[in-house]
Amino acid sequence: MGVESQDVFAKYREMLARVATETEVPKALRRAVTSYRGNVARVLKLFPDTLQLAQEVRRIKEFSIDHLDELVDAACRSFERNKVHCHLARDAAEANRIVGEIVGSGKLVVKGKSMVTEEIGLREYLEGLGNEVWETDLGELIIQLAGERPMHLTSPSIHMTRERVAELFREKLGVDVEPNIPELVAAARRFLRDKLVNADVGISGANAVAAETGSIVTIENEGNIRLATGLPPVYIAVTGIEKIVPRLRDAMMVAETAWRFAGYVAPAYVNVISSPSKTGDIEKTITYGAQGPREMHVVLVDNGRSEMAKHPVLKEALYCLKCGACMLECPIFDLVAGNYGDKYPGGIGLVWSYFTGGDKQRVAAMLYLCAMCYRCKERCPLSIDTPKMIVALRNMLAKEGIVPPQVAKNAEETLKANEKILEELEKKVLG
Ligand code: SF4
Repeated sequence: MGVESQDVFAKYREMLARVATETEVPKALRRAVTSYRGNVARVLKLFPDTLQLAQEVRRIKEFSIDHLDELVDAACRSFERNKVHCHLARDAAEANRIVGEIVGSGKLVVKGKSMVTEEIGLREYLEGLGNEVWETDLGELIIQLAGERPMHLTSPSIHMTRERVAELFREKLGVDVEPNIPELVAAARRFLRDKLVNADVGISGANAVAAETGSIVTIENEGNIRLATGLPPVYIAVTGIEKIVPRLRDAMMVAETAWRFAGYVAPAYVNVISSPSKTGDIEKTITYGAQGPREMHVVLVDNGRSEMAKHPVLKEALYCLKCGACMLECPIFDLVAGNYGDKYPGGIGLVWSYFTGGDKQRVAAMLYLCAMCYRCKERCPLSIDTPKMIVALRNMLAKEGIVPPQVAKNAEETLKANEKILEELEKKVLG
């Protein structure tokens, strides 16, 4: 390992040690993790069929990733049939350019939470074109105001205490508010309401996409996605190609599994959007542009996903539902939140970061933090083997000269040893 790489590794180790010992992050996480564990345990008790549902979803995702190209074609055909403009973006630059051309400049844009738009830096890109862009999910708004990146897949501001949020609102929104959670939520509602009502363009991601019907499925609690995708005259869905599954019922199963493992009995809203708003109320003649958007676009983003799908071990990361459950079991995440990660947080996030244009040196440094404890795999609804992928990625980076071969070799030995331990544990647990 060159001196430069050693320096980079040391730099990240120091950063993480600082976060774990000198900030409020562990305190905020303790509060969040305690409440999450209680929620998910209650949901799994209430719906004991969830584990079986998750197994079916695993099969759906395996099939979908093995038929990615066909599903992309089928989804695009269905969208076009529904009068939705379908765009394919090979990489982040192309995705941003496509959205930028639709939006133009001088517009007010409202966004729902979306990891793929974080991945490609869409908000910053649109701001660079002279647009005013607001995140409408509370956690994302907090992150936007703080100038940070999401620290968890479903709870982007999980690392912040209520005291820090109140401070931010005072500083950035000029709102004098106590560190009291309902007051903070009300302040965000007042601020965002005006943006949502007056927006020119709404943007969201997708929890799943149904190829057969050309439908975008999103789940949410705040009601912001409903408003951001329903009020502005133009709606753009930006989503990764791995979100496509064959049928609408598959997409709903994916969504249901994701919300159960995010700790919800049912989310406040499940949205299914398949076309611009339309009416046939006069002479049964379908006319687009009723009360909702009159124009809808879908941007299907590849940005490394096809490459990921070709790798025999790492393609498993594409099955990820982004429910964030694994991170809340991870002993490393528990101390530093998404600072353990790069573009995407957590162990699985390192695989995603590697393929979607993350910083490879940072990814390499973070890969060696994994404790191989297997708690992530145990918690994951689809039993995604993140520790195994972490070792495969360590080996890939070793071949690229970013991780020293001796360290990579040790990692393989560690994996073998851990697999043995896991086998023993499973034998004991299963009797
Ligand atoms: S790896 Fe599994 S637990 Fe983690 S976010 Fe993805 S689906 Fe959820």
